[in-house]
Amino acid sequence: MAGDVTSHFATALLIDGEQVTGQGFVEPILNPATGEVLTRIAEASTDQVETAILAAHRAFNEWSRTTPQQRSNILLSIADAIEKDADHLARLEALNCGKPLHLARQDDLTATVDVFRFFAGAVRCQTGQLSGEYVPGYTSMVRRDPIGVVASIAPWNYPIMMAAWKIAPALAAGNTLVFKPSEHTPLSVLALAPVFAELLPKGVINLVCGGGEGVGSHLVSHPKVRMVSLTGDIVTGQKILQAASKTLKRTHLELGGKAPVIVCNDADIAAVVEGVRTYGYYNAGQDCTAACRIYAQTGIHDRLVAELGAAVSSLRFAGKRDADNELGPLISTRQRDRVASFVERALSQPHIERITGAAVHSGPGFFYQPTLLAGCKQSDEIVQREVFGPVVTVTRFDELSQAVDWANDSEYGLASSIWTQNLDKAMQVAARLQYGCTWINSHFMLVSEMPHGGLKRSGYGKDLSSDSLQDYSVVRHIMARSSYEL
Ligand code: NAD
Repeated sequence: MAGDVTSHFATALLIDGEQVTGQGFVEPILNPATGEVLTRIAEASTDQVETAILAAHRAFNEWSRTTPQQRSNILLSIADAIEKDADHLARLEALNCGKPLHLARQDDLTATVDVFRFFAGAVRCQTGQLSGEYVPGYTSMVRRDPIGVVASIAPWNYPIMMAAWKIAPALAAGNTLVFKPSEHTPLSVLALAPVFAELLPKGVINLVCGGGEGVGSHLVSHPKVRMVSLTGDIVTGQKILQAASKTLKRTHLELGGKAPVIVCNDADIAAVVEGVRTYGYYNAGQDCTAACRIYAQTGIHDRLVAELGAAVSSLRFAGKRDADNELGPLISTRQRDRVASFVERALSQPHIERITGAAVHSGPGFFYQPTLLAGCKQSDEIVQREVFGPVVTVTRFDELSQAVDWANDSEYGLASSIWTQNLDKAMQVAARLQYGCTWINSHFMLVSEMPHGGLKRSGYGKDLSSDSLQDYSVVRHIMARSSYEL
């Protein structure tokens, strides 16, 4: 699979319209499916980060005055360019994340193109508040204007899709950007540098690579950066809030998740098994919405555990034929060891039962076996904390109100689902769940038109949808006095 792309890795950063080699620390970039070094990328030096921020600051003056139509046309051209090169970009994504290529192509790249097209349309049909005279002789109206330079900081689980989620609404709203991919997964985003350089005025978007503590914290603390958008860990979000407080920046935080999946006695068990088999383990569970915390009602519990156990043990991964694989490895040995230690601690509790998995996969790469644990209690660490790996727990409940209380008894508030054939019941549960999203008889489906984002420690700020355009812009009041008598 690697053959035709490894010699073509784009490793240059994009700063002020120029593709330049980083002058900072050189970072090996790995293929997590094999552990091999794919290439080495020099991060941005302190001076280069500074140049990128100042370039974005200068570019804001012109870019913020472009019309929605002008920005929309550019976003459509970016979408077309990505679509044209989608096979190549998917290969980069698959190599750098270890994902099965067919999934990267069919899911990540398709969604990436759609997000650029969605925001190209959305920015041209925004609605607003009424204008009028609220004091005689004065006309009030509301504008929605861009914020300024946005520093966008992305995680490693869906590198190109996360870039689209952050770049498209910020540009559409008229901001300029300095975008930092995860230090683990810069390849697909750096491959877009020529597209951005060709289609956008210089400085409107800058791509800088580097670690969080160096390049990331420089971006967050810079006084010319007016907003920071992070998708990442809760601890990173906390650090960013502290640093951003010094210059009172706006923040947009998409942090972790621990999605509850409430399965009632009257659920369609085949649909639950298929749904959790797919969306509990998709992307090796490295997904903040992963269906990882099942609450199963007593009447369906035993059958569900048995059928789900069989289904999960049939998941295909680490096979020689990539097209057959359904999930990839963890991103790093560190992440795999973290997952393994969560499971080890869970299984040291006598009440937790291993149904399947629970071991590091032998062989190359950072794979961990898809794991199902039953008998878990609400207070268990494995139920409370985000594992971010292919691990799903099952907890038994009797009364539905208990399951809702347990589902809400979490520091996280991103995604949830309720499975029942009684729609009235589902609607009542959906209304009580304290999560940014609740799916009914489904899980994981995201669409560009609908908002995605959390409550509680899962953060705030919405990705996707016109709500995201609002987050990347600011409401302003314009009031005109008139002394003209008609
Ligand atoms: P991470 O927080 O370690 O890193 C995310 C990004 O933040 C990286 O680019 C990193 O370099 C940067 N960073 C780290 N420390 C920083 C600092 N002090 N200042 C500035 N930047 C810093 O997260 P990760 O390990 O890459 O991703 C996994 C996490 O992301 C999980 O917790 C997951 O739930 C979360 N996530 C959330 C969503 C969502 O939509 N809510 C989506 C995907 C991932």
